[in-house]
Amino acid sequence: MTEHNPMADQKESPEENVQLRCNRCNKPITPATAILTETGYRCAECVREQQRAFDTTKRLDPFLGFAVAALISFAGSWLAGLLGFFTILVAPGIGTLISNAVRLVVNRRRSKALNKAVLVGAIVGALPLLILAILPLLSGSGPLLTGGGNLMPLIWRAIYAALVSTSAYAQSRGLRI
Ligand SMILES: [Zn+2]
Repeated sequence: MTEHNPMADQKESPEENVQLRCNRCNKPITPATAILTETGYRCAECVREQQRAFDTTKRLDPFLGFAVAALISFAGSWLAGLLGFFTILVAPGIGTLISNAVRLVVNRRRSKALNKAVLVGAIVGALPLLILAILPLLSGSGPLLTGGGNLMPLIWRAIYAALVSTSAYAQSRGLRI
């Protein structure tokens, strides 16, 4: 009835793939499904369980994280138009400020959702002034390309948006470990 392939049987000999064991539940795992953690190889189930234990946030925390990140990021973006080149030095510091402020507000609870909320909040906070800087260019009413200098505040705000969001996100994630 069923097609029998002796070669396939040989390939799946039981001993072949069982070289690794999860160091938490001791279940045999194949190199393909094993996940290397800081404490050694683990099976996908144990890693999932571990991640759940890291999720300590309450339901409102991501919203709080978003709001705090957006507020500080907005305040910083106002500065970015004035600072020019120094935006590059200041933006990562504002990212740190966001990360620390959020940690305080959510009482050091943490989760992936919170980190993402911080990232989105930092981007959203930097957007209003960036869009305001772009609008005159789109409508053609601004002195478009008459001198590169006119574009600089826009460029610094764009750089600020990128730096502040990546810095805040990286540090929120880093604090998980
Ligand atoms: Zn396991």
